[in-house]
Amino acid sequence: MKNNRAFNLLVAFGLFAGVSWLLFAHGRWFLWIFPAYGAVFLWFSWRPEKELKFIFLFLATTAGFIMPRFSPGADSLSGAAMTLAEILSLWLLFYALSSSERGRDSKREKISASLAKAREREKNLREELQRYLEHKAVLLDKIKLQEEIAVSIRHMASASGASEIKLALEARMKSVFAGCNSRLDSGAPSDFIETWVSERKIPLLIRNSEEETRFSRALFGPEQRSLIAAPLYFFGSMAGFLRVSSPEPGRFTQEDLRAAELLATLAGVSMENIYLFEKVRELAIKDALTGLYTHRAFQSRIEEEILRAARARTPFSLVMADIDHFKSYNDNYGHQAGDTVLKAVAEILSSGVRDIDFVARYGGEEFAIIFTGADKRQAAEAADQLRKRLESEKFSFNGKHSGVTASFGAAQFPSDGATSSQLVRAADERLYKAKEAGRNRVVYE
Ligand code: GH3
Ligand code: MG
Ligand code: MG
Repeated sequence: MKNNRAFNLLVAFGLFAGVSWLLFAHGRWFLWIFPAYGAVFLWFSWRPEKELKFIFLFLATTAGFIMPRFSPGADSLSGAAMTLAEILSLWLLFYALSSSERGRDSKREKISASLAKAREREKNLREELQRYLEHKAVLLDKIKLQEEIAVSIRHMASASGASEIKLALEARMKSVFAGCNSRLDSGAPSDFIETWVSERKIPLLIRNSEEETRFSRALFGPEQRSLIAAPLYFFGSMAGFLRVSSPEPGRFTQEDLRAAELLATLAGVSMENIYLFEKVRELAIKDALTGLYTHRAFQSRIEEEILRAARARTPFSLVMADIDHFKSYNDNYGHQAGDTVLKAVAEILSSGVRDIDFVARYGGEEFAIIFTGADKRQAAEAADQLRKRLESEKFSFNGKHSGVTASFGAAQFPSDGATSSQLVRAADERLYKAKEAGRNRVVYE
């Protein structure tokens, strides 16, 4: 580059000197000196060496003033005027060239500035695009997770029992952690991972078991290069563990841990809901004192039993029972003692019948028993066994020994009544008869 520049300078001065000498030597061509300079000057102005023009202009002007003195053709007034005019033209040419060059330069500068700006903007936009793409990937992941959670909520909310929740949770885990081993452990910790989680009450994420410092590496199996363990809570106490593992290291992220925790929480809340729902339902159909079915439960059961028996054309029997002289029992031993007796009677009745039979507290100290598939004789026989067991039972309160008896009335479907109220009335009438006849007996006719 440097050599090239020196070469250009040499050529430039060579040209200048050559043209000057040629025209000086041939005096009559003297007036061509400036147009020739002009042509050389134009050539110079294409060169990248900008200083050439200035040097040349200086030299040409000097030559213009000095040369006419020695040149035979320029030794006149008109020759001097022409020379001056030519020098002026050269200067004008120089001015025109440099101003057009300046304009070109400033345009070029402007263009290159806006090009640089555009490049900068392009770079910024590319970076922004990259950030958006990354953000989009994160958002898509989040949306996917949220969709999974929504599906999980729907699945678990539609489950009606603990086993369904377990199935729904296992299915969700398989879907959220596709290609991994996942399972649900209920009960006490079954290995060192679950012991760790249960002691610290926090979930555990192991990204790579071979780089693990909290546990001995030998404890992990090849399937457990990365793993997640989250506790499952049921009404505040740890009831199990949600486990996911993979033979691939670095398979799980903090985000996955959160997803597992969320699934575990969802499952826990769903189980609590089902438990509460069952509890409420039980409260509605079970008597709080005796644990027997309530009057309302009895009503729906007897309707079902009528439909079933009518369809199957088999009989069933209803037995109504009432504790004898219970009012005086309460008076003698106190209401609390009476309650204990009621519970004991309920226990004798419910444990003395078959699983398919149905015992309810009809109200106060009255009970109703449905003997499925039995006629009234069979029912009366079963009722008599109950009566005997009750009669032989002894209670003691504050050192006082006591006992109670009960009276029973039996009626059969459909011969004694085709509707529940007819049946209840028939059984009640026979119970009344039993009372009339001296109590502590079973009447079925
Ligand atoms: P009967 O042999 O004619 O059946 O005489 P009874 O005294 O049992 O007859 P009645 O139906 O008049 O009295 C029922 C008594 O049962 C009245 C009430 O004090 C008692 N009773 C009803 N429900 C309860 C209860 O939940 N707890 C206790 N301790 N007593 C109850
Ligand atoms: Mg009564
Ligand atoms: Mg009574």
